[in-house]
Amino acid sequence: MPLGYAAITERAPVIAYLGLGANLGDPVRQLSEALERLNAAEEVEVTRVSAFYRNPPLGPPDQPWYVNAAARVRTRLGPEELLRLLQQVEAALGRVRGEHWGPRRLDLDLLLYNGEVIFAPNLVVPHPEMHRRGFVLVPLAEIAPQAWHPVLGKSAGDLLAELNPADRAAVQPLAAD
Ligand code: ADP
Ligand code: MG
Repeated sequence: MPLGYAAITERAPVIAYLGLGANLGDPVRQLSEALERLNAAEEVEVTRVSAFYRNPPLGPPDQPWYVNAAARVRTRLGPEELLRLLQQVEAALGRVRGEHWGPRRLDLDLLLYNGEVIFAPNLVVPHPEMHRRGFVLVPLAEIAPQAWHPVLGKSAGDLLAELNPADRAAVQPLAAD
């Protein structure tokens, strides 16, 4: 192999933040398994995980509560490649046995990627709703209060502090039992 080959083909690792959520099946298990699968993927290392939080569902009130978390990953994948991996893990864990494309059990969102702003047809980063969502900001600010939103020019901690107190209070750590 010619000298310098690795340096040319290997991207330097970058930091990205992910949002995880589930409200069907066994949400804690699906989130835990998703984190294991992501960490097992080549070129992805899960370096920090928030507590799991419970959060009332948006929309119809007859749905089960959501469980949400955030994770920090170190990766050599580009943003589109990382999104594809998230979608593969969603598909692998999200299928309801016996139902063809039944209700989704797992949502994995790319919140922040290496401080970049991305507007592609299939990928918008920072995630366009993240600054409005307590269930994203509470876990994200727990693991990375300094994580920077490059469009709003604010940290995750700042964004959480600006959130409506009721939205913030609705997101509660899951009781450890
Ligand atoms: P939501 O996460 O808003 O509840 P979905 O997970 O069903 O909705 O949305 C998936 C779609 O969102 C995919 O087609 C994906 O290409 C697109 N998308 C755009 N930006 C992002 C992002 N930052 N993270 C995850 N999916 C994204
Ligand atoms: Mg999603």
